[in-house]
Amino acid sequence: MKFNELDAMEILKVLFTKMVQYNATDLYINTKRRHTEIQYRVDERIINDNNVLDNVIADRLRMILIQNSGGDINNVKEVKSKAYIKLPVININLKIQEELKSDTNTIDIINILLKKNFLHKKNKNTFFVDEEEEIKEDEETFEFRLSVVYKPKGFTIALRYIRNELKNFSLEELGFLKQHENIIHKIQNLPKGLILIVGATGSGKTTTISTFLNDIHQRTNKRILTIEDPIEITNENFEQFEINEEGEEEYRITYSNFKHTLLRQKPDCILIGESRDLDTIMTSISASLTGHLTFTTLHANNVKETIDRLLEIGVERYQIETSLRSIISQQMIPKLCDNCKIEDKENQKHIEGNKTIYKESKEGCEKCYKGFNGKEIIYELAILKDGSTDNYKIKNLENYINKEEVAYEKLLQGKITYNQYKKDLL
Ligand SMILES: [Zn+2]
Repeated sequence: MKFNELDAMEILKVLFTKMVQYNATDLYINTKRRHTEIQYRVDERIINDNNVLDNVIADRLRMILIQNSGGDINNVKEVKSKAYIKLPVININLKIQEELKSDTNTIDIINILLKKNFLHKKNKNTFFVDEEEEIKEDEETFEFRLSVVYKPKGFTIALRYIRNELKNFSLEELGFLKQHENIIHKIQNLPKGLILIVGATGSGKTTTISTFLNDIHQRTNKRILTIEDPIEITNENFEQFEINEEGEEEYRITYSNFKHTLLRQKPDCILIGESRDLDTIMTSISASLTGHLTFTTLHANNVKETIDRLLEIGVERYQIETSLRSIISQQMIPKLCDNCKIEDKENQKHIEGNKTIYKESKEGCEKCYKGFNGKEIIYELAILKDGSTDNYKIKNLENYINKEEVAYEKLLQGKITYNQYKKDLL
């Protein structure tokens, strides 16, 4: 069965289903000269689909996706090669069948999908549903964020699978170690200041920030207000606002009018989506200087790099010193599969106190991909001193945990390999 023999909607169902089955975070549809290639991002690795699509069908997929995310195809067509279009979240309903979840090895998914009516259909030709439509108990809602970038010839589509249910995890379940609870509480109990959560794209910054704030809310019942673009994880405990630059003036929410409108709402803690440029980071800095504990994310690999990055964006050194109180840096590395990991006798000699460490089995098993299954968080925590230039000598800080000690603990817990511990830390 070739992809081209199915119609575009059937193909979309197959792709979404594969995404769910692989536990993929992203789906990429890349047009090439002769055909269109499909890729999945699983645990930060790219997996190519063995099937390729006809470019004509890929273009139909593009139109279906844009239409179903509320975008305007006619406008989108105007956009030239370098434009980046970010469209709102789309909702679809999938009915998960246990046999598909459990047997990840041999099933030919396409054939199963053709035989069984796997996906919930609202009507004959579409499985997209209105947000308002009631979700039945045996169904789950999956959200995707769609981005289409146009190339001189063709386009590339990135579809990020947003796992809203993560909001219920505790920090410990996310992988923050019990022995670091004290420093985490110290960060959460800071009366004011800026807290930066940094990491690469896909390192789970949004999940961590949301869990941090949810934890604060549950322990202290503080009023938490978020301003995001768009809202990534909905949480009933927060007052969440989305950047809205269109429509009538009184309904507009922008980073620049944020101070006058939302700060009057008297929040205790503020989450400001992603700091991408000087404007957004300055919004966070000024919110923190008005006496609010302010959280935001930034693209940087580690604590040291974060301060360089801020200076590079154009923030002044004194502004960093007066506002920045804490940096949480994180990265995700593939997690060993518990089902097939094997003892690593060779590297045992590097480990103090005879503890068993593990490595991946090269073949893997039916529960994993080449010996790894899921991701493990490795983090770095720093509380900076108020208004002090010591902030630039991170290593001397009293409240500082580095990635190496976190990774070593995870190595002893059998979650990562010695090679990852030695080579993969950023
Ligand atoms: Zn395995």
